[in-house]
Amino acid sequence: MVTRNESATGAPGAPDIDVVVVGAGFAGLYLLYRLRGLGFPTKVIESADDVGGTWYWNRYPGARCDIESIDYSYSFDPELETEWQWSERYATQPEILRYLGHVADKHALRRDIEFSTRVEAARWDGGASLWRLRTDRGDEIRCRFYVMASGCLSLPKALDIEGADRFAGEAYYTSRWPHRSVDFSGKRVAVIGTGSSAIQSIPIIAQQAAELTVFQRTPNFSRPAKNGPVSAAKKAAFDANPRAYREAARMSGAGVPREVPMVRALQVSAAERLAKYEEAYESGDLLALSGTFTDIGANPEANETVCEFLRGKIRSIVRDPETAEALCPKNHFYGTKRPCIDTNYFETFNLPHVRLVDLRKDPIRTITEKGIDTASRSFEFDAIVFATGFDAMTGAIVAVDIEGRDGVALARKWADGPKQYLGLMTSGFPNFFTITGPGSPSVLSNMVVSIEQHVDWVSACLVHMREQHLTTIEPTPTAEVGWVQHVNDFADITLFPRANSWYMGANVPGKARVFLPYVGGVDRYRKTCAEVVSRGYLGFAFDGPGGARCSDGVIRRVQPDVAIVLEAIEELGVPALDTLSVENARALTVVMAAERPPGPQVGEVVDAALPGAAGPLAYRLYRPTGAGPHPIVVYFHGGGWVLGGRDSDDPFCRDLCVRSGAILVSVDSRHAPESRFPAAVDDGFAAVRWIAAHAEALGGRPGQLAVCGWSAGGNIAAVVCQLARDAGGPRIAGQVLVTPVTDCDLTRESYVANGEGYGLTASLTRWFWDHYADPADRRRPKASPLRAADLSNLPPALVVTCEFDPLRDEGAAYAAALAAAGVDARHLPCRGQMHTSLPSVDVIRSAAAARAEIGTALRRFFGVSTPAAIES
Ligand SMILES: Cc1cc2nc3c(=O)[nH]c(=O)nc-3n(C[C@H](O)[C@H](O)[C@H](O)COP(=O)(O)OP(=O)(O)OC[C@H]3O[C@@H](n4cnc5c(N)ncnc54)[C@H](O)[C@@H]3O)c2cc1C
Repeated sequence: MVTRNESATGAPGAPDIDVVVVGAGFAGLYLLYRLRGLGFPTKVIESADDVGGTWYWNRYPGARCDIESIDYSYSFDPELETEWQWSERYATQPEILRYLGHVADKHALRRDIEFSTRVEAARWDGGASLWRLRTDRGDEIRCRFYVMASGCLSLPKALDIEGADRFAGEAYYTSRWPHRSVDFSGKRVAVIGTGSSAIQSIPIIAQQAAELTVFQRTPNFSRPAKNGPVSAAKKAAFDANPRAYREAARMSGAGVPREVPMVRALQVSAAERLAKYEEAYESGDLLALSGTFTDIGANPEANETVCEFLRGKIRSIVRDPETAEALCPKNHFYGTKRPCIDTNYFETFNLPHVRLVDLRKDPIRTITEKGIDTASRSFEFDAIVFATGFDAMTGAIVAVDIEGRDGVALARKWADGPKQYLGLMTSGFPNFFTITGPGSPSVLSNMVVSIEQHVDWVSACLVHMREQHLTTIEPTPTAEVGWVQHVNDFADITLFPRANSWYMGANVPGKARVFLPYVGGVDRYRKTCAEVVSRGYLGFAFDGPGGARCSDGVIRRVQPDVAIVLEAIEELGVPALDTLSVENARALTVVMAAERPPGPQVGEVVDAALPGAAGPLAYRLYRPTGAGPHPIVVYFHGGGWVLGGRDSDDPFCRDLCVRSGAILVSVDSRHAPESRFPAAVDDGFAAVRWIAAHAEALGGRPGQLAVCGWSAGGNIAAVVCQLARDAGGPRIAGQVLVTPVTDCDLTRESYVANGEGYGLTASLTRWFWDHYADPADRRRPKASPLRAADLSNLPPALVVTCEFDPLRDEGAAYAAALAAAGVDARHLPCRGQMHTSLPSVDVIRSAAAARAEIGTALRRFFGVSTPAAIES
């Protein structure tokens, strides 16, 4: 029973206790230790009859961790690191359970844990500012803070197989394995499922059973764990400096120290790739394969090289070709469902008494008294093992009937996916925390590292509230919406959302399909949580005797891949271009361009020259595949009239060529400061005239010519349209202006807000203008097209602007001015993007949707309605 009136305040009407924590696994135990140490009366409620959580329940044969035990262990108590020595690289379930028991004993935790008790309901009492929890024992517990440390993988998924309760033989669930020993000797055994638990248990069950039949719906990627004694190298690295080792884990992507890959899989030869994969395969390290190259998690082609490598391994192990093929995953990318490591999993299918039933070909119809009926046959078994997984991440939380402010039920609020802030809290539910909740790295990381970080954050928050005399905390709706957006934005630049995985809620019928964990990494996430605090608990509202306070806002507004690129630029120490000589700035942009992904294949690329306004101009023509003639898009590159050339936006031109189905002609122009205003635009106009006149010879469709340009190239494109109108031709079917320069006024709000920190700076823009045009010339429409007296009768336009671009407002102003002048002009603002996002093909993947819209706009200009042959 919970002892009453243990509150730190002890005031009348006060809660029974300050904090109730649900769950006594890794999370609940550490939370109890930490809060107790900080002087918060705390009670843990646990439905099991002892500590351990995952490691209490999952006692199936072969159960062990798949993150190395040195990493998968607490760091908060350095003594533990010497007094506890792991006997294996990947400890077994009994050993991990002993470890957690040892921690509980050492810190006398059990005295504050109420075992064999389930929390069934929780209701926020706004009048008293406390939670009223109800347990299955009928108790009501009133607490100020309510923490669900209830586990991401603790609620078994409800069985959705007909007849499951009809089976008269022995039925076992890997996630609720009996505490007595189970002996399958001489028995006919079925295992349903081929996820992590099945992959661990199948080889061991096969050793005992007379017959083993594995029912597989989705094959999984797995590779040898190479288990054995703790690796000497790992131990040495740890022992050399345990604190530094732990810190490296905290500041890593997945909570285990490792080298970060720098190279793309498709950048190296097939032999080099294979060598890396072999090394990762042989390492037995779960995270090694994903860490071979930078693009495994995002690029389908790169990922497929890993998939095929692993399929090759399966085919080489499993002797029966049909079984091997059935075991080869083909409907999801590597890593998008939790990969596994195993001991003799695939080898087990070579044993004469083991068979595989591929449920995609022969689905289960029903479970019968004697066994399992599939569509084509009946099986009889003595025992069935259900390894059917969990209602992951949200299941255990919403299994409790949680009611927040104004009677809102959490299950209802989260019906379309969990709406939360940082995976820690959800608005409308004051003083309610989730440890490793949805929206945090959790299951994508070494969970002990993530658990410790959450526990430390929550503990520090409670201390802050106590010091500031604050009674309640809850996230603001703004912060919450912003974080959910950020979590989705991050998932969307990876391959994760393409799989029907439990990360997506896809294993549970009726569950919302939303990517649940945060894929940005433990390190980035930790920094974010720390930044939230350092910005006055940004996005949280507090109330209490200390006063009401709220520093509202969104913690991450730039697109995640934009942030990654900006971080890389900073890390590499790339100098600001405007601090360099023109010559060195040009050289630097060439070096940087060499490192980028090449963009898609096109039908043909031709380099040639055409007559410009004052001499020949180099151009590069990109021809789509398929029979011509094609429409033509004349493209003007970026580079502030100073930098770049016909090939400087090569990947973007390829991308546009494929998306638009048009010939792209990327034309060079004379550059400043050697050739100042109006050389660039005169060249641009000369090029358009020449290309229009020679369209047929170039393979183009006469009369179907559009212009497109990025940045200063957008300026040239816009000006060329005005010049063509005034000159009476050539006819331009449409203009796409991508984050264009349209005006020389550098005082707009976007210059102030985005003038620094987003690639293109206000200072660099000034540098470009200074090289290009004298102050008086800048104001002429030929330099600042927004200043033209007449903007009517111009070609239809698509103007793309980026939220974090100094040029944003002048682009938006041009789109508005065109529309006001009666031009068919559309403005496409890109949320979270920066000036260089659009041309960064296969780098800023979040801009792919905008690139697709450009393709569609160009097709529309040409009267084509067929979709582009490219994935967005
Ligand atoms: C088989 C298996 C292997 C795993 N291996 C790894 C690994 O190698 N590395 C890794 O990082 N992660 C692994 N995980 C994930 C694992 O769940 C976490 O690492 C970690 O153990 C979670 O600890 P926790 O305290 O957050 O939750 P849990 O250990 O799940 O504990 C939650 C506890 O809350 C209790 N509870 C839930 N709801 C209620 C309620 N309403 N009332 C009372 N009690 C309740 C449950 O009974 C449970 O004991 C594995 C998971 C499984 C299932």
